[in-house]
Amino acid sequence: MTISSRVFRSREVEGAFHGPVFGLLAIALAAAVYYVDTYTDVEGAIAVLYVVVMLVAAQAATRLGLMVIAAACAVLAIFSYATTHGETGDLQSTIRLAVALAALFVTTMLLLKTESARLSTLSINNALKESEARYRSIFDRTRVALWERDYSRLRSHLIGIKAQGIADIRNYAEANPAFVDHCAGLISVVDANQAARDMLGPQSAFGITLRRSITLDKFLDLLQAIIDGEKIFEDKVEITADNGEDKLVLLSISFPDDPAAFNRVVVSMVDITQREMALKALAEAQAELAMASKAATVGALSASLAHELNQPLGAIVVNSQTLLRWLDRDPPDLAAVRRSAERMIRDSQRASEIIHNTRSLLSSSSNKLEDVSLERLVDETIALMEYELQRSGTTVFVDRKTPVPPVPAVKIELQQVLINLITNAIQAMDAAGSAKRVITVTTDHPDNDHVRIAVRDSGPGIAEDVKEKLFAPFFTTKATGMGMGLSICRSTLEARGGKLDGSNDPEGGAVFEMHLLTKPELEHA
Ligand code: ADP
Repeated sequence: MTISSRVFRSREVEGAFHGPVFGLLAIALAAAVYYVDTYTDVEGAIAVLYVVVMLVAAQAATRLGLMVIAAACAVLAIFSYATTHGETGDLQSTIRLAVALAALFVTTMLLLKTESARLSTLSINNALKESEARYRSIFDRTRVALWERDYSRLRSHLIGIKAQGIADIRNYAEANPAFVDHCAGLISVVDANQAARDMLGPQSAFGITLRRSITLDKFLDLLQAIIDGEKIFEDKVEITADNGEDKLVLLSISFPDDPAAFNRVVVSMVDITQREMALKALAEAQAELAMASKAATVGALSASLAHELNQPLGAIVVNSQTLLRWLDRDPPDLAAVRRSAERMIRDSQRASEIIHNTRSLLSSSSNKLEDVSLERLVDETIALMEYELQRSGTTVFVDRKTPVPPVPAVKIELQQVLINLITNAIQAMDAAGSAKRVITVTTDHPDNDHVRIAVRDSGPGIAEDVKEKLFAPFFTTKATGMGMGLSICRSTLEARGGKLDGSNDPEGGAVFEMHLLTKPELEHA
């Protein structure tokens, strides 16, 4: 219902009681005035008495009604004049008529103005009532626990203290031990909504004082906030409900601008016990996770170290066995012994480089970039893996699609990635028992900023359900696998601005592509 329709409704209700009485009285008065004016010899401005009719009618009539009644009175006055003085109209009676009409007009105007003022007051009152009702309904129905507290006495007390030149409430409270309790006693609860009663129980909802529920320190903060004229005070406080349950709540007090409104300050409390417990559990879980991931990183590094070292150590064993065989010959083949010994030295150096590299990874010092020729890197890596390739019966083709410029990189890192990819290819073809075992390593320079090394095998390719998890740490389909190889390779390349992708080749088998920047950005390097 709109405000204006409410106004008229209330007017109608009033009319139901006073309307008929005042209406009849006004009609009787008008008739009497007309009668005296027309049929008696009473001299004087009788028609002026129509003003009284208007005053009586104003008690019941609306604005339109007033105008109609005023017009009717004017008609009666003119009609009466015409009947009695129509033909012999003298100046005096004409002036009397004019005065009566003027009085009628002025009275009507004043009454209309009063009526307008009355209507607007009524509408303001209704708006106020409506706003109060709205506030009440929000206060009562909201699910946030709300209190109305009277802080007016406390505010006056604090302002009085401030007027004495005391600005720091803490020092004052220390010097006056009774001050805090006195202040607490000045606050009273005016009302508490349903949510407040549900949260604390009816007794605590009305009985609780902030001094009892918040620490002395926070209470002093609250007093200081009032002295400083702050608008909001917020804090986490612990309170005890009727049933003895301790709750952690977010307390919020908003102080009004108008000092007179301090008798109804709204205080809200939101129960954050569950949320805090959840946050605590989350923090604990995060701490545990951090511990676990630290352990996993150490585990992963050792796994990666073991994985990387396996290859050179295996090669050293094989070469030492070969070397012994050459020595056992009669006469010993010293040239072959030398070749085996040289291979053993080369593999030992690689093992030592791997250990050195892992150590620098752990100490977070980054390795130095050097210009690496990818073609040479591929050749050297294949030579290093000679034994493994032979053992598995794998043939390697090197395809130099386009000349590739040297790229700034850490050679051992690229080599580790390449060894991982070739080892994975060998294992995939081994596991599938592939009859034809071919690995093709392609180097090319697709654009000015990038170079690429692709390792393609003739194995079974990457299974559909593996594709998504391929680079996830600890994902493996091998009985003895760690699942760290591809994840470490990818992060190694990404740390330098490069990337690693894996997919299936349309002609069969899997293809892994290392993309490197020809000019690694400074931040990556
Ligand atoms: P791991 O070798 O210890 O399993 P990786 O991260 O190197 O760990 O590899 C993860 C998984 O990716 C492998 O278990 C395998 O299922 C799949 N994969 C890797 N390389 C190939 C490949 N060339 N062909 C088919 N699947 C592969």
